[in-house]
Amino acid sequence: MTASLSRKIIHVDMDAFYASVEQRDNPELRGMPLAVGGSAARGVVAAASYEARKFGVHSAMPSVTAKRKCPDLIFVPPRFEVYKAVSQQIREIFAEYTPLIEPLSLDEAYLDVTENLKGMEVATEIALEIRAKIKDVTGLNASAGISYNKFLAKMASDLNKPNGQAVITPKNGPGFVESLPVKKFHGVGPATAERMRRCGIETGLDLKSKSLEFLSAHFGKSGPYFYGIARGVDERQVRPDRVRKSVGAEDTFAEDLDDLESATAELRPLADKVWRYCEAQGISGKTVTVKIKYSDFTQATRSRTGVFPAASGADIVESASTLLASVFPFKRSVRLLGVTLSSLTRDQGDTGTEPPQLDLDF
Ligand SMILES: [Mg+2]
Repeated sequence: MTASLSRKIIHVDMDAFYASVEQRDNPELRGMPLAVGGSAARGVVAAASYEARKFGVHSAMPSVTAKRKCPDLIFVPPRFEVYKAVSQQIREIFAEYTPLIEPLSLDEAYLDVTENLKGMEVATEIALEIRAKIKDVTGLNASAGISYNKFLAKMASDLNKPNGQAVITPKNGPGFVESLPVKKFHGVGPATAERMRRCGIETGLDLKSKSLEFLSAHFGKSGPYFYGIARGVDERQVRPDRVRKSVGAEDTFAEDLDDLESATAELRPLADKVWRYCEAQGISGKTVTVKIKYSDFTQATRSRTGVFPAASGADIVESASTLLASVFPFKRSVRLLGVTLSSLTRDQGDTGTEPPQLDLDF
C-alpha cells in the first residue's frame, strides 16, 4: 500500500451552520424556514436552514429570489462574533485528536488523523466521537466524511448530510469518482463544469479518459489535479498553517452608483477593512484588485501589482482608485464594489527587509 492510500483524513462540516446557530439560540425559530442575511432589496442569503432549503432557498441567493421561493421565509441578521466563538469551540475539540487541522471556513475543516493523539486506529470512530462532542459542547449537528485523501473526504461528508457520516475506502474510491458528475467535484465550479462539458467531460469516467496533456492544455495549473482526482488520487497534504492567498472585502450598495466620485468614496471603507485584517495578522500584499459588478450583474476586475507591499489602508485606496478610474465611464451603474489584496507577504511595506517607504501625507 502506498503512503497516499494509507492516510486517514476526516472532513468535518457543520450542518447549515449559521442558520443552526440561530435556531439553537432562538427556540421560536426552530422548525421554521430561516435565512441568515439581509432581507433588504439588495440582500443576499448567507445561509439557509434545512426547512428553507426545501423551498429551493440556498446561500448566495438574492434575498428577493429567496422570498419569492419561500414567502414565509424568516430573515435573521448574521452574528459573526457568535459563529466565530462556536467555530473556536469546534477547533478545540479537533485539537484533542490531532494538530493537523486545516480549516476551510468557520464551519469546515480537514483533519489528518493518520497518527492521532488518542492512538485510535479507526478513523470512523474518531469521526463519531468528534461529532458527538460537537453536539455535546455546542448543541449543533456536524457531518463528516472519512477517506484516504482530502478530495474524497470532502465528497464523503456530503453523502449522509445532515447529521451523518460516510467512508470512502481505497477500494471503492476510484469507482465512486467515475460515477459522479464532474460538476459535483470540489474544485470544479460552474464555469469549469461548463468548459468540461464542451470538451465532452460530464462524469468522472469522462474525465479519466482524458490524458494529463489534454487536461493541462485545457485547464492549466488545475490539469494535474483533475487528472489525479479522476482516479481518486489527491496528494495534497492537510496543512495546519494554511496560508491565505488573499484578503478581500466587498459591498453591495443600497442604490446603484453612477459617478466616479461616489464610487471612489466607497473604496475607502473596503480598503480599511482589508487593512485592519492585514494589520491584525502582520501581513500585507503587493497586488490590489478591484471588482466591479454592474446593475446587469456582469462584472469586471482590474489588478495592479506594486513593487512593495501596501504599507497602509491609504496605499490600497490609492491603487484601487486608479483601477476604478480606468473603467470609467461605467458601462452600467455600479451595484457592488470589492477590494482584494493578494501576493501576500509577511512584510508590511514599511517594515522588514524592504527599504522603508516615506510616509507622505497628501
Ligand atoms: Mg457546512
